[in-house]
Amino acid sequence: MKNIRCRIQENSWLARVAARSLRVQSVAVVVGRTIYLHGASRERFLSDISWMRHEACHIKQYQQYGKIGFLWRYLAEYLQKGYYNNSLEAAARAAEEDSEILDGIEII
Ligand SMILES: [Zn+2]
Repeated sequence: MKNIRCRIQENSWLARVAARSLRVQSVAVVVGRTIYLHGASRERFLSDISWMRHEACHIKQYQQYGKIGFLWRYLAEYLQKGYYNNSLEAAARAAEEDSEILDGIEII
């Protein structure tokens, strides 16, 4: 299978907005195949295997549902269940322990 090539964008305004609303210091937000970071450098993100696995799961969810499909599903679940109980987040949290989730993900 072809690798999914992803990129990292540091100091992202989108991730800053997410960090504020979640009341956390650092956050990553995935849109499509881009990982937007706030409060963390590329190096820090790449040194945190659980964090990378979590975001890799979101990248694969985007591949599965498409960009609009993912965002629609995410928003609908967020409004019903909030952040933590959102099934897309629950799957990404479970993926933090998944040693194979990063297979096929290439971060450039
Ligand atoms: Zn997540």
